[in-house]
Amino acid sequence: MKLLITGGAGFIGSAVVRLAVARGHAVVNLDALTYAACLDNVKSVSRSPRYAFEQADIRDRAALDRIFATHCPDAVMHLAAESHVDRSIDGPGDFIDTNITGTYNMLEAARAYWHGQGKPENFRFHHISTDEVFGSLGPSGQFTETTPYAPNSPYSASKAASDHLVRAWGETYGLPVVLSNCSNNYGPYHFPEKLVPVVILKALAGEPIPVYGTGENVRDWLYVEDHADALLTVLQKGELGRSYNIGGENEVSNIDLVRMICAILDEKRPAGAPHADLITFVADRPGHDLRYAIDPSRIRGELGWRPSVTVQEGLEKTVTWYLDNAPWWQALQARDGVGRRLGTDQGTGQKAGG
Ligand code: NAD
Repeated sequence: MKLLITGGAGFIGSAVVRLAVARGHAVVNLDALTYAACLDNVKSVSRSPRYAFEQADIRDRAALDRIFATHCPDAVMHLAAESHVDRSIDGPGDFIDTNITGTYNMLEAARAYWHGQGKPENFRFHHISTDEVFGSLGPSGQFTETTPYAPNSPYSASKAASDHLVRAWGETYGLPVVLSNCSNNYGPYHFPEKLVPVVILKALAGEPIPVYGTGENVRDWLYVEDHADALLTVLQKGELGRSYNIGGENEVSNIDLVRMICAILDEKRPAGAPHADLITFVADRPGHDLRYAIDPSRIRGELGWRPSVTVQEGLEKTVTWYLDNAPWWQALQARDGVGRRLGTDQGTGQKAGG
């Protein structure tokens, strides 16, 4: 297939681009190259004859029309988004513009293109979303595909709105859509403002490791390469109009996750004292969801997908990758906002697990 992948210079999008090219698909990577992007993430495939890059903003409808006309994709995988909860607290406007209006533009450009092609039945518009649209769980229960939406942050509200648009374009215009809602990802090429890389890099620097609140927030952690595999599965086997929850079946509290990373570093890069001694509790994020957990029965039962690694295995691979790729993350540490506390509602960086 020829896939138009938006956000392919970001964390998850680049994993999808790398996997899709490795599996023999042609890929057009559409990305505006915001602060969160890094073309090195796709360097390993950038010379492939099956890879093309288009720098474009999904808020620019004319650019989208040109890219559809030039490349004639068989399917769209839409990942481009503003993705950092803390930044959405400090500046929600970009999240509304990119995640809602940008998705609207993508839907309209895809619909016009699909019409122009004679409405091919096998065309797909796959919208990639988050479990955060479902809000926060108490100590028990899991999100299913029918859990009511109850987003709590500007980020999750903007993603919820984009999910609704995609569903409506499927119902109203017959655009062949599929959706997926995934839990927290971690792995190689994770931008250094998110929890897992923050912990690794602070520990390596011997600096305090910030943990929001009491660290009891629970997330269902999924290795990014497993997510990329799940996304290609949903694209190729998912039923039209249906949404699929994707999870790692790895529920861990933030504080336990931080301790796991510290223990791995104690083995791989021993310091004078246990890295966990650096853990420092800081003021919580406003509106911080307590717990997310995914019921993966649908994707497992209907599409036969399940994650390939446990969180322990995935974290070991991730820590090794960060130890082996210092130039990659060192270059990104100079970007605006990285390393600063964001999202306190006072303008004062890390994503505390989603
Ligand atoms: P990311 O921030 O690492 O990457 C986002 C990419 O989108 C960047 O390359 C950026 O340049 C691009 N982009 C942003 N605004 C754009 C615009 N206006 N036009 C074109 N490109 C633009 O994000 P990520 O963590 O890789 O997340 C990708 C998608 O997966 C998002 O839609 C996110 O909501 C969803 N998601 C993320 C997670 C997670 O744990 N990170 C979990 C579930 C779902």
